[in-house]
Amino acid sequence: MPRPITAAIDLAAMRHNLAVAKNRAPGARVWAVVKANAYGHGLERGMRGFSEADGLALIEVEGAVSLREMGWKKPILLLEGFFEFADLNVVAEHDVQVAVHCDEQIAMIERARLAMPIDVHLKMNSGMNRLGFKPDVYRDAYARLRNIPAVRSLTLMTHFANADDTDNPGLPLAEQIRRFQAGAAGLTDERSLFNSAADLMPPDVHTDWVRPGIMLYGGTPGGKSAEEFGLRPAMTLTSEIIGVQSVESGDALGYGSRFIAGKPMKIGVVACGYADGYPRHAPNGTPVIVEGRRTQIVGRVSMDMITVDLSDIPGAAIGSKVILWGEGLPIDEVANAAGTIGYELMCALAPRVRTVER
Ligand code: PLP
Repeated sequence: MPRPITAAIDLAAMRHNLAVAKNRAPGARVWAVVKANAYGHGLERGMRGFSEADGLALIEVEGAVSLREMGWKKPILLLEGFFEFADLNVVAEHDVQVAVHCDEQIAMIERARLAMPIDVHLKMNSGMNRLGFKPDVYRDAYARLRNIPAVRSLTLMTHFANADDTDNPGLPLAEQIRRFQAGAAGLTDERSLFNSAADLMPPDVHTDWVRPGIMLYGGTPGGKSAEEFGLRPAMTLTSEIIGVQSVESGDALGYGSRFIAGKPMKIGVVACGYADGYPRHAPNGTPVIVEGRRTQIVGRVSMDMITVDLSDIPGAAIGSKVILWGEGLPIDEVANAAGTIGYELMCALAPRVRTVER
């Protein structure tokens, strides 16, 4: 018998969430973001689940080549472009579109003298100060790329820091949009702007492409309710109770004795720990579902196990089903309790967890 922890991936939910994303951005085409192994769901599953997307976007050149080898015929975009000169021929040969965010990348394209054309997404740093050209030099970068015969098309691209927190005083969304529009003024090429956060709260700004990620997997940025937006969880992490203990008032649980029972309790030991990708910082009180009933973690998360309160679930016993996140227990809720985000939980799912489709 394998260890009972399993991540069930629901391809129908992925298809459904993609349809939600499309409906929320009428007229725009959708890059389904499948970076980080499709946010932990598996690249090949991402390809099948998002077969109706207009394109797939990810980070690694190797992933783009795998998608082509697995038969993906539609556009592919490398969100950070290429990392070294040798990659340029690979992307051109596989018809992979690239983001370009710095002078060094432009110089490499100039030097490459590519035989095959490439499509470039010119990234603007509209305030996030990660990747991209600042608005005042954006047009210079654009002009340089326009001069390269192998550059077939240019798409104007930026990424928003606070689309889930539009009034953030550090950088309000409206200010980032203003800077983007100023930097790209007069350029009539297609635009690629929004991630899930903005797609869930669309500002009245024209874009030709949207780039949702987390929402396609049934999560939301910034603690919104996935259910409210009609999103369905694509990943449900389940396990089983593998041990039961009775403790008395005053007994301590687990490493560091982080939980002291205040009364006699029934404790379940679940086959799931931080080596499976469960957040080690999940405190006492983090929700789990046992036998269809909500309960909570008590004691510290260890490498292979967590302990949960079964005191009010009399039927719970060894073999009882436990839901760690997913159907019935939004991943954002678990992430929030653990002081992290759903993205991190999905991406951190460990290779040792068996994944199945349904
Ligand atoms: N576009 C870019 C450039 C990104 O880096 C990301 C993810 O961080 C996305 C889109 C998708 O973002 P989200 O998962 O928040 O929808």
